[in-house]
Amino acid sequence: PNQYHPRVYAISPASQRFLAGLGVWDALPAARIASVQSMEIHGDGDGLVRLNAWQAALPQLAWIVESGEIERVLIQAVRMFGIPWLEDRCAGYAEGAVETANSGRIEAELFVGADGAASPLREAAGLKHEAVSYEDTGLVAHLDAGRPHQGAAIQWFRDDGVLALLPMPDTAGGPQVSMVWSMRSALAAELLALPADAQRARLETLLEQATHGRLGGLRVRSPLHGFPLTLERAQMAAPGIALAGDAAHRLHPLAGQGLNLGLGDVEALARIVAGREPYRKAGDLRVLHRYQRARAEPVLAMRLATDGLHKLFGSRAAPLAWLRNAGMHWVEQAPFVKRRLIAGASAN
Ligand SMILES: Cc1cc2nc3c(=O)[nH]c(=O)nc-3n(C[C@H](O)[C@H](O)[C@H](O)COP(=O)(O)OP(=O)(O)OC[C@H]3O[C@@H](n4cnc5c(N)ncnc54)[C@H](O)[C@@H]3O)c2cc1C
Repeated sequence: PNQYHPRVYAISPASQRFLAGLGVWDALPAARIASVQSMEIHGDGDGLVRLNAWQAALPQLAWIVESGEIERVLIQAVRMFGIPWLEDRCAGYAEGAVETANSGRIEAELFVGADGAASPLREAAGLKHEAVSYEDTGLVAHLDAGRPHQGAAIQWFRDDGVLALLPMPDTAGGPQVSMVWSMRSALAAELLALPADAQRARLETLLEQATHGRLGGLRVRSPLHGFPLTLERAQMAAPGIALAGDAAHRLHPLAGQGLNLGLGDVEALARIVAGREPYRKAGDLRVLHRYQRARAEPVLAMRLATDGLHKLFGSRAAPLAWLRNAGMHWVEQAPFVKRRLIAGASAN
């Protein structure tokens, strides 16, 4: 009960509704889910924005859930619905069929490439794809906190990266938070290369400096993992193929929206394929273009928002540093803007 999966997601209300509709949300153990009651966003100067669920009359802003738990209940659901499950890997794609590592060829009207940022199906089928490196690495670990987090997701936007502490269920050791720290890859590589004890001590010192004791003393309670951060997008549809999730788009994790965007893809694809004309096949390019069009705007909006924030805070130029902190003061004083921000974040 005190071991937590290293990867956690902030699940938005829209994703929660989708998972609840599939009947899998209720299968998640309540004790493993933390609800986010507020967000606290610190700028690199004295800028601070606080968003509370009550300001928008919501019971919570989001939920923090381990990826291992979501995958476990989804696999149970697949079994319960009797959906055939083939333990195999996509190894190639030719003439409308997937070649697999073990069992040969699979033919289908529609293949959905939900196989991650490196998408072997996308590559084998030759769908267009572009990627730009942020030269940043996302470091994740779970921490024991000296003070209760009270359901607050806290972020520090710094000119050298973005640190997020997400609320997690308490453990026997007390309050727990999940750290996602996007930092310059050179510093991350230095940290990842240290022996375990030195790594823990160095990370705890860096956390102390970055958080100014906001959650009391922070102690690392899990191994440290690093993910290279990139901005990627791909052609989402080709005859007989649709891409979803990170196979189709990958964003900076500063808004914690990657999986939510992927679940939005799945919801749209299922709705559009199910609603097609009876004479069209599921993989008909006209049907898949509808899917591509439906997702273009939400994906672009999230791409612009996360990339724009990364650029705004990544700059050391004095006018931008002033602007971002002044902007945060302005937002903090404007309840209407705060309600819009909360509504926007909940819609994805
Ligand atoms: C540091 C960090 C923090 C993040 N925090 C958040 C957050 O708080 N909230 C959020 O919404 N998002 C977050 N994200 C983004 C999120 O992790 C991704 O958007 C999400 O995991 C993408 O899911 P996916 O299923 O598309 O891809 P993946 O999670 O990469 O899954 C791909 C799957 O495809 C399988 N696969 C790979 N190759 C093959 C093959 N050849 N054949 C068959 N299957 C294959 C893999 O085994 C895997 O199961 C974060 C990302 C990072 C890096």
